[in-house]
Amino acid sequence: MTELELRDLRKTYRSRGRPAVDAVRGIDLALHSGELLGLLGPSGCGKSTTLRMIAGLETVTGGDILVGGASVVDRPAQRRNIGVAFENYALYPPLTVAENLAFGLKARRGRDRKDVDRRVAEIADRVDLTGILDARPAGLSSGQKQRVSLARALVREPDVLLLDEPLSHLDAAQRDTTRRELKRIQRDLGHTTILVTHDQEEALSLADRIAVMKDGVIQQLGTPYEIYDSP
Ligand code: ADP
Ligand code: ADP
Repeated sequence: MTELELRDLRKTYRSRGRPAVDAVRGIDLALHSGELLGLLGPSGCGKSTTLRMIAGLETVTGGDILVGGASVVDRPAQRRNIGVAFENYALYPPLTVAENLAFGLKARRGRDRKDVDRRVAEIADRVDLTGILDARPAGLSSGQKQRVSLARALVREPDVLLLDEPLSHLDAAQRDTTRRELKRIQRDLGHTTILVTHDQEEALSLADRIAVMKDGVIQQLGTPYEIYDSP
């Protein structure tokens, strides 16, 4: 079943006194339920813009975005049930790690306290945050912040998960562990995921399919085997 579909998705940035930037120039893509797509391409090719439009953090210039068959372009971000872990999508500084994770859950109706605590503990355990649940973001390393962002994206059990370079600040050992955990989470929970990365190993080990973007369009789409084995 198709879970996420992009139809001729476009974005032109216009600001006064500057030439318009056609950041995304017509993307068509269909991800089936539980699929993980690796999104690759050079800096400036439109990867982040694409993710931000899907998340509802950026308006759409043209085209459509469907989640579970329904168009979401007119829904605000908080009504899309899309989990995001972006570099510049900050954690709330006054809240502890546990509170940051609980925040998104409490915003949803029908969650009682015990249920929220259980869910936070479960995800903290999976992403190895148990020792820092009472810390505040300012006191964390960039690798720890990145794991908190990842946990926050996962905690709401989103329909769609969008990850922008989620492992870039981790050291080699942590990256290995977190990558393996991400793979397990993906297999267990079956999120439909787009993962932006420039790490070929990450793409190879995690992605079901890979899309290569260039100048605002998808230039290549296939299995990791097809992409990396093609001349
Ligand atoms: P990537 O994530 O692949 O590096 P981006 O989506 O960030 O690419 O950027 C695509 C293009 O859009 C680039 O030319 C970038 O400079 C431009 N761009 C991104 N965000 C904005 C913005 N808020 N205003 C104007 N131009 C932008
Ligand atoms: P990334 O490559 O991860 O998208 P960028 O450095 O391109 O990161 O963008 C960081 C922030 O700056 C984003 O919020 C983006 O919208 C904004 N931005 C990027 N390019 C431009 C631009 N040409 N004009 C205005 N804002 C921009």
